[in-house]
Formats: sequence, C-alpha cells, structure tokens
Amino acid sequence: MKLDATDLRYVTSEEFRVLTAVEMGSKNHEVVPVVLIAQISGLRNGGVNKLIGSLAKRNLVSKVQNAKYDGYRLTYGGYDFLAMRAMSKRDTMQSVGNQIGVGKESDIYIVADSDGSEMVLKLHRLGRVSFRAVKEKRDYLGKRKSASWMYMSRLAAQKEWAFMKILHEHNFPVPRPIDQARHCILMEFIDAYPLRQVSNVTSPGKLYSSLMDIIVQFAHAGLIHGDFNEFNILIRRETGEPVIIDFPQMIIIFDGHRLRINFGLFRYFNRDVECIRTFFARRFRYESSLYPKFRKVLSDGAEGDDFRLDVMVEASGFGKREMKVLEEVSHSFSLCSCDRSSFQYMEAVNEKEDGTDQSEEEDSSEGGEHEESSDDRDNINADIEGNIEVK
Ligand code: ADP
Ligand code: MG
Repeated sequence: MKLDATDLRYVTSEEFRVLTAVEMGSKNHEVVPVVLIAQISGLRNGGVNKLIGSLAKRNLVSKVQNAKYDGYRLTYGGYDFLAMRAMSKRDTMQSVGNQIGVGKESDIYIVADSDGSEMVLKLHRLGRVSFRAVKEKRDYLGKRKSASWMYMSRLAAQKEWAFMKILHEHNFPVPRPIDQARHCILMEFIDAYPLRQVSNVTSPGKLYSSLMDIIVQFAHAGLIHGDFNEFNILIRRETGEPVIIDFPQMIIIFDGHRLRINFGLFRYFNRDVECIRTFFARRFRYESSLYPKFRKVLSDGAEGDDFRLDVMVEASGFGKREMKVLEEVSHSFSLCSCDRSSFQYMEAVNEKEDGTDQSEEEDSSEGGEHEESSDDRDNINADIEGNIEVK
C-alpha cells in the first residue's frame, strides 16, 4: 500500500472531522453506521454522506456492503493518515519517501521533516498476521473487540516506543526515537545494512562480543530482546557498529516490582544467544566457546545493578495490562521465534485469501522479509567502504 503525504494537505477540516468520527465509532462498532458518524461529527446526515464518499474514494474509509446497515470502516490508509497528520501537526514529519521494508508486522518508510532530514517511519500492522489470534483472545480486548487490528497495532507501537525511549536514554545502541502517534513510530534513520545482508566483517570476533555484551546489558537492565537476530541487527555502513531495532516483543525478566527473577524466561534469553551463535558460525565461520548464561548473567548483574529499565518503561505509561494483551497475542503466534520462519504468517495469509477472515480488507500478501531464507536474498554483492561487505 502506498502512503500518500499529499493527502495530508488536501483533506478539509470537515473531512477530517468525519474521519475522526469513523475512528471513534469503530471503538465499539466493527462497521460504523452513517447515523453514528453524523452524530459524532456533529454534521448533518446529507453533508456527511458527501464527505464520507470523498474519503472512501481515497481509500481512507471503506464502505461495507453486506452489513445489516449502511456503514463504513476505517482502513489502514485512514489510520495511517490520522497518525501522520498528528505528527505533521507536531512538525515532526512532513513528507513521505520510499518504502524500505515490509516486515511481517510492519511497513517501513523513509520520511522527512521540514528541513528535509531523513527519518524512518514504522507503521505497525499487527492485524496482518495475528488477527485470528486476536479474535481468539477477545476476552482480553474487553469492549474493544471490534477495533482489534487498530488497537493491537497501536499497542505494539506504544510498547516499542516506550522501550526505544528508555533504551536510548540509557545509551543502548538503538535508533533515536522521535515521535509516536497511534500505530506509528518515527525514529532516526540509521545508515546501515541489516546483518543478514553482510557477508564479511573485518573482525567477526569483535562484533560477536559486542552483540553478546548487548544481550548481557539488556539482561542486567531486566530485559530480554526476544527477537535478537540478523534481521533486527543493523550494521552501520561507516563504522561497522551494531544498532538494535524492533522491540515490540521485549520481555521483562522480573516479576513485578519485587526483585523476583523469572528463571522460566531463560529460553528466550538462550534463543537470542543461540541466534547469534548459529548465524556467526554459518555466515562467518566464527565459533566461540564463550557465550552468556542466563543464571550467571543475572547473579553477576544483581550486585552492581542499580537500574531497572523495565520499571522505567512501566512508569513511562506502558502498563502491565497493555503488556499482557500484547503478549498473549504475540505468544499465540510466536512472534519472537528465532528464525521467524513464516509458515504461521503464510497460514494466516492463506486463510485470509480463502476469504475466511473478513475483518481486514487490506492486501497482506506482500512478501515479508522473513519469508525467504536470509541467505538467498539481497544478493547485492557490492564491495563497500569500511569494514563490512554485503551480499
Ligand atoms: P519488523 O517488526 O517488521 O521486523 P523492523 O523494525 O525490524 O520491523 O524493521 C524492518 C526493516 O526496516 C529492518 O530490517 C531494516 O532494514 C529497516 N529499518 C527499520 N528501522 C530502521 C532504521 N531506524 N533505520 C534504517 N533502517 C531501518
Ligand atoms: Mg524486524
């Protein structure tokens, strides 16, 4: 799907009111009746029909034909628009450039502010994969049942934002977070290659230890990344330094505010460690007998450790309840599986293509980055400056 920044300028304030009314109405209605849209927007019925027609033409809302009543639904496009408009009102972004990534659960665009400085806009698309799981977990969604893809995508963005902010404030190598609205995050653009594209580095040992160090520092701060692999590690083009991205599945090690370590989470920690070991052995023929062990790391860390990022994240507004909702859905779909082999994703897409999932009208069959094996794709074969070489 194409994002259109020009629309940001060409939506009239009345159209905007109607669009916002559809968004508000969809909190309680899967299909928002026109009368309700008129009521919320405070506009006359006739006027609303015309305005909503013009929004539908631009795919910001879509008419639902087979409902018992005449109604509309906010599309991904409409939700994108509302988020981008909020950011452009705050002057954090102004224009949209190329799409640089289609993840399993996100779209990534290069965008710019009014000075032309480039940034990255990540739009979370949780419903694309997990809608079925969301449906199964409706209990957690309470009254928000009908707005689940919007709600879940927003939660994912809020969680990612909360973690990225705290991690950045504590000097972890993550992109600088710039703004967040609805299901979107605006962040610093990192001039880098994903590790999966890198075929050679000057010193695999050095990179290996710095990645293991990051895993250890996460754990000392009370966190496990949960998807620490070659897709979510960027290697700076200039310096070869790693930058870690993608935080919606971050896991908190401690139970509550009491310092009780949930040792059951060692699996996730080990998986992050294993991903790096396996990748380094396969790609760089680099193997080391040194790698962090969960218990040891935590007992070392507990002594001198005076900062708990998990507590700070919670204090920043992303609470336990939200975390739990997101976790439930994530776990049902193993969002943090190491190789993210995409059979579950394909399953979800196929089901949708069969027409069994009608709750989302957007095309979700674009190739996700995790669909192909990392070794087969992106054969750029370019020698580049610095100490890395990309495939
Ligand atoms: P997903 O959750 O869909 O996996 P990611 O956050 O991992 O999304 O981003 C997907 C891809 O987009 C990354 O592999 C990377 O190539 C690119 N990307 C994401 N964030 C940035 C950034 N801040 N700077 C440069 N590229 C980025
Ligand atoms: Mg990713």
